[in-house]
Amino acid sequence: MIHEILPVGPLQCNCSIFGDEQTREAIVVDPGDEIAEICSILAQHRLHVKAIVITHAHIDHIGGAAKLKAITGAPVYMNENDQPLYDHLDRQAAWLGMESPERTKIDVAAREGDKLTIGKTGFEILHTPGHSQGSISLWIPAESKVIAGDTLFRDSIGRTDLPGGDFHQILRSIADKLLALPDEAVVVPGHGPITTIARERAMNPFLQDM
Ligand SMILES: [Zn+2]
Repeated sequence: MIHEILPVGPLQCNCSIFGDEQTREAIVVDPGDEIAEICSILAQHRLHVKAIVITHAHIDHIGGAAKLKAITGAPVYMNENDQPLYDHLDRQAAWLGMESPERTKIDVAAREGDKLTIGKTGFEILHTPGHSQGSISLWIPAESKVIAGDTLFRDSIGRTDLPGGDFHQILRSIADKLLALPDEAVVVPGHGPITTIARERAMNPFLQDM
């Protein structure tokens, strides 16, 4: 499995590009910005995008989705609970003093238990609300890897003071969905360095009472 992690935009959101070596199918997760760079990585590996998956509708994760969809024709997957956030993308842009990017229609609702595949590799949707109501994580059992969006970071968790945030809910999502994954599972957070489930269970100050 090809997996490139590219921090994009002023908030350095980790965009993940997964590619299957046999079928050359790709899944792009959180194309927040720098779509030209993402496209050049796709071209380097001769990949065609099968799905664009959004972990949550904050502008740094979803800002480039419309542009990438226009270029690749791939459908956009997002949990429907984040539609209100996406509808107010212009408000999010204003908070950050940015120009509002173009929006697009969400093609597929990403719900708990849904599965995407490229080649023979499955990607399972975990609904992990708390940072936002529609926050999802993507679990890839064959790679023992989870894309955690802004739910879990190395030594921290997602902020819950923005609209749709809920501190107790994010802790419950982490306890029930993420800490249930194998210890050796690699966690790719929405920002910052990768980590593992075992490391966060042992070291993350927010998870010590679990
Ligand atoms: Zn966020």
